[in-house]
Amino acid sequence: MIAFIERFVHENDVDSSDSASDYAGEVLSDLSDAGHDFGGLQFSKPLAVLRPSDASDVAKILRLAARSPHLTVAARGNGHSVNGQAMAHRGLVVDMKSLSLPIHVHADGIHADVAGGALWEDVLRHCVVNHRLAPRSWTDYLGLTVGGTLSNAGVSGQAFAHGPQTENVTELEVVTGNGDVLVCSKRQNSELFFGALGGLGQFGIITRARVLLQPAPDMVRWIRVVYTEFRDFTRDAESLVTRPDGDTFDYVEGFVFVNSDDPVNGWPSVPLDRYGSFDPGRFSNSAGPVLYCLEVALHYKNEDSPSTVDTKVERLMGGLRGKEGMRFEAELGYMEFLLRVKRVEEEAKAKGIWGAPHPWLNLFVSKNDIGEFDHVVFKNILKHGVGGPMLLYPLLRSKWDSRKSVALPEGEIFYLVALLRFCSPYQDGLSVHQMVVQNQEILQSCTKHGIDYKLYLPHYNSVEGWKRHFGNQWTRFQERKARFDPMAILAPGQKIFSRNWQHS
Ligand code: FAD
Repeated sequence: MIAFIERFVHENDVDSSDSASDYAGEVLSDLSDAGHDFGGLQFSKPLAVLRPSDASDVAKILRLAARSPHLTVAARGNGHSVNGQAMAHRGLVVDMKSLSLPIHVHADGIHADVAGGALWEDVLRHCVVNHRLAPRSWTDYLGLTVGGTLSNAGVSGQAFAHGPQTENVTELEVVTGNGDVLVCSKRQNSELFFGALGGLGQFGIITRARVLLQPAPDMVRWIRVVYTEFRDFTRDAESLVTRPDGDTFDYVEGFVFVNSDDPVNGWPSVPLDRYGSFDPGRFSNSAGPVLYCLEVALHYKNEDSPSTVDTKVERLMGGLRGKEGMRFEAELGYMEFLLRVKRVEEEAKAKGIWGAPHPWLNLFVSKNDIGEFDHVVFKNILKHGVGGPMLLYPLLRSKWDSRKSVALPEGEIFYLVALLRFCSPYQDGLSVHQMVVQNQEILQSCTKHGIDYKLYLPHYNSVEGWKRHFGNQWTRFQERKARFDPMAILAPGQKIFSRNWQHS
């Protein structure tokens, strides 16, 4: 592999024409996957896809890339970005899933060392099946790599309690853009540790992470409650995420759905099993075009009696303002709960919509402006839905260490808004282009109405956009770049820095 890169660098220095590209394709694996991502909106052919087996291979790739004046390197986790973030146009894509580090659970029962390219679903299975332990903070879908989510944040219904996944690792091994393999933590090489977490792959490639664990429960009681009034929904959601530890659920999320019988966007999307029925007669005709659903879950052990679990659930639900008779419940194993989106994936694959484009838009919106956002976006622009889930749930800023790279809106409480659009070839609805335009309309409306938001999984095409995104963190972000990847070799698909950025 390395001989190939040596040869490529030599050729590329002399002549950057397509001959090198043709040559690369022959030597290494199929390039087509690395040119696509889950979003399906961008395509960018790399020169080669490399499959390193350990951190020292990754370091060799980066050191060799540094010898070329324009070669870039993108780590590719599972390619589940939606805007080409893991691509490298005419550069090298490093397939992180090839790293061969086995998952190692420490004897202390609190830490596990996992490869940067490990899938979270494999980490889950290994820790639960072999050790009855599990990481504390998750994403909804687990077909994502450890390094891919740590480069963004990694949020789900546990983040209000434990912080995002970036707050649940104590040590990383990172290969910087300089080709140095460094172990970092809050105390050792701390600037790299804080920079890499949420750092959009800009400062180094995460080859190993030490993840915090907790005892795994056996079972989960999963509950959904419907609201017609936005204010009641947010009041209850915020109350649940700000209650003291032990006095709330283990998981709190929520979503917005359309007040109609639309099978994808409307009432049928709420019951937790196919036999549950949604009775719209339970609320008045005055309900608006969209409704809200709080989603919570409680962990328990096999030895907990059903009445103990019932009593705890009723205590925690007490005082919530959800609609009478609009509560849906399911009982399932802990792994089954965490792997719930895998079932959605299988169904979507069967319908041919998993591989179709996904113009997703994810935002963090300040609590101060979430009412206005509801009015302008959910009740107006999105009153017919997005062809998939519209997630909405509160998070707490105090659970996010501000030394890390993620940009957040102001205030202690902010909301994750995830507009998870699916394009169905068989249904009427917006075209992909219209969805992209609607996303722009949403962002323009936020700006027009002075709504305080930050993009999550951000995507900008100009440095101006990135400067606005990072605000007063921009200088620190640039300084970290100058220190850990001064030639801007890494993660070119984020379109933040170009190889000659320090001279432009
Ligand atoms: P990739 O898309 O391959 O890479 C993402 C970025 O990280 C790229 O810039 C890449 O170069 C860089 N990168 C990848 N690996 C490394 C590494 N080891 N070191 C340094 N940089 C690296 N996010 C949430 O927070 N919560 C959710 O619930 C959630 N659900 C999702 C559900 C689905 C179906 C999908 C498609 C995405 C979801 N996401 C969610 C978003 C997801 O976390 C990000 O898109 C993430 O980047 C995808 O991980 P990946 O392994 O596919 O990374």
